[in-house]
Amino acid sequence: MTGTALQIPETLRKKLARLGLRSQEDLLVHLPLRYEDETRLTALRDAPWDEAVQIETTVISAEVQFRPRRQLVVRTETGDGELWLRFFSFYPNQKAVLAPGARIRCFGEIRGGFFGAEMVHPRFTVVKDDLPLPNTLTPVYPTTAGVGQATLRKLVARALQEASLDETLAAEVLQQHGLPGFAEAVRILHAPPPQVRLADLQTRRHPAWRRIKFDEILAQQLSLRRAYLSRRQRGAPVLQAAGQLAARLLSGLSFGLTSAQRRVLAEIDADLAQPFPMQRLLQGDVGSGKTIVAALAACRAIEAGWQAAFMAPTEILAEQHYLKLGAWLEPLGIHVAWLSGSLKAKVKREQRAAMAGAAQLVVGTHALIQDGVDFSRLGLVIVDEQHRFGVQQRLALRQKGGNPHQLMMSATPIPRTLAMSYYADLDVSVLDELPPGRTPIRTRLVSESRRNEVTAYVEAQVTAGRQAYWVCPLIEESEALQLQTALETFERLVAELPHLRIGLVHGRLKSDEKQAAMAAFVAGELDVLVATTVIEVGVDVPNASLMVIEHAERFGLAQLHQLRGRVGRGAHASACILLYAQPLSETARARLKVIFENSDGFEIARQDLQLRGPGEFIGVRQSGVPFLRYADLEADLDLVEIARPIAETMLAESPMQVERHLQRWLGGREEWLKS
Ligand code: ADP
Ligand code: MG
Repeated sequence: MTGTALQIPETLRKKLARLGLRSQEDLLVHLPLRYEDETRLTALRDAPWDEAVQIETTVISAEVQFRPRRQLVVRTETGDGELWLRFFSFYPNQKAVLAPGARIRCFGEIRGGFFGAEMVHPRFTVVKDDLPLPNTLTPVYPTTAGVGQATLRKLVARALQEASLDETLAAEVLQQHGLPGFAEAVRILHAPPPQVRLADLQTRRHPAWRRIKFDEILAQQLSLRRAYLSRRQRGAPVLQAAGQLAARLLSGLSFGLTSAQRRVLAEIDADLAQPFPMQRLLQGDVGSGKTIVAALAACRAIEAGWQAAFMAPTEILAEQHYLKLGAWLEPLGIHVAWLSGSLKAKVKREQRAAMAGAAQLVVGTHALIQDGVDFSRLGLVIVDEQHRFGVQQRLALRQKGGNPHQLMMSATPIPRTLAMSYYADLDVSVLDELPPGRTPIRTRLVSESRRNEVTAYVEAQVTAGRQAYWVCPLIEESEALQLQTALETFERLVAELPHLRIGLVHGRLKSDEKQAAMAAFVAGELDVLVATTVIEVGVDVPNASLMVIEHAERFGLAQLHQLRGRVGRGAHASACILLYAQPLSETARARLKVIFENSDGFEIARQDLQLRGPGEFIGVRQSGVPFLRYADLEADLDLVEIARPIAETMLAESPMQVERHLQRWLGGREEWLKS
């Protein structure tokens, strides 16, 4: 562990550990949630109600009453009126302390009570002689049961005396960006001098807060960039290829690449030719054509004599990729293997043998990273829908053989600055152009009460030769209930549209049953596919032109956008119908409005970020990594832009300062990045 251990009793030590406070250095950056102003006294007649004030007053009487419940009622005289104090829980000695004639200072909110002005449970101190008023605002710290504010204040005050407040930023940086020094900033925030405006502290706009937020964001950048740079120290196979295999694949396609695809591919190719592992994230909206880019990257690896692995988060998606990649590559003489958890033991053994031997491309689910699965010459790892995988899973895949190059793909676009922050340990490529010839998807919001019209519309689409999805929501409380809605919808549609071929997929089906239903839909043997969210990711059926989403109000924005992206993949005019049930909550209404008004994934992501905040938005990648306590990626985006180049300079020029800064801000919490 780092820092100066706390000289305190064991029980308190344990409680503080729950707050993440293990050393004096931790206490330095355990900053107040808010402040109370006890530097001033307010006269009763001037005191605003419902706002915390401090009033000095003299006790007239104090007695325990029992109606309506047991309480200590204290009558006091301030000099300009009577103030009543009430305590519902109190120690016996408090009554003694509040003896008639005692002068006290009470801090709390005044409200109109039964007898007149009163304070309920004020904090108070007895004034002996002439106790001076404190000359700093009183900090209120985040705490946990059994650790009082007074204790924290005392410990912090000691830490400010004893712990090292050394500066980790260069003087020029402070000057250029108008930031106060670290010591000054923490002193101000823990014990704000009287001239500091309370409002600036509360709203966290004071320069001292800005310094703290900057430090935090800088720590994040330093740690992620350092991980990035250290991975570059490792050797990776140089994937040298003339590009013949890719050229043959391209010449067999019915389409040419978009310029965005060509640009991204050039970025990937340049990485693959380096002697250190690529670590690239490919972001592209649903339908932007990431799969072919991945396939072409795989071609380069294969031509260079290495294996490529392609991992997808669900069986259905992995199977789709397997079929598609197989159809593209097998005619070129490429050996494609397939591994999923649901394969029969014998087949699995054969596929594993292929992976350890002659297979050139291996497609699969996370079965690819299970123990006992080995590659012979893994050169490139492609992870589709990477946000669906935990960090652990991606690390496991990387550890499968040497240091393969990595391409991670995501259809959940995130705004640029957010990407700069959270994906600072990756290079990012963006497919910002959809393939030509797509007709925009019309989105309609339809109340559940008009379901019949929707059913009729489904029928009309099918009559016109198209296919439709009908998706039922995830019901978090109950998988059984979720299944039930899907079943009910299925049965109702079968009853109402008896001449249509309707299929059903849901999570309870065995994997081969799921695949059979999907395959039938892909092959056009089903007109309508009723599904739970298992179809959410990546499925590609160009003839499907209608997406009906049941209880759309229960879906998140990213999910709605993904689902809608299942249609509009062919040349046919497509529609997405969002069925919703009344009454709509505020947030559900806001979400539906966003999806109705926008089709660009980045814009939707931006608005999603606004509705939800970055924590939830990022999901699995950062969970459990308390990188940012004070900075708010929305409000403090400018700091990310400032921190990035400073982090690069520090990493290159001042490794000691980097170490010190990370120690202060992350303690031991960056372990997960090291592997
Ligand atoms: P996503 O980025 O969502 O994974 P896909 O790779 O599934 O998208 O591509 C969506 C569809 O667009 C597929 O049918 C794919 O073959 C097709 N496609 C990809 N690139 C192009 C292109 N340049 N021109 C026309 N169609 C393309
Ligand atoms: Mg995809």
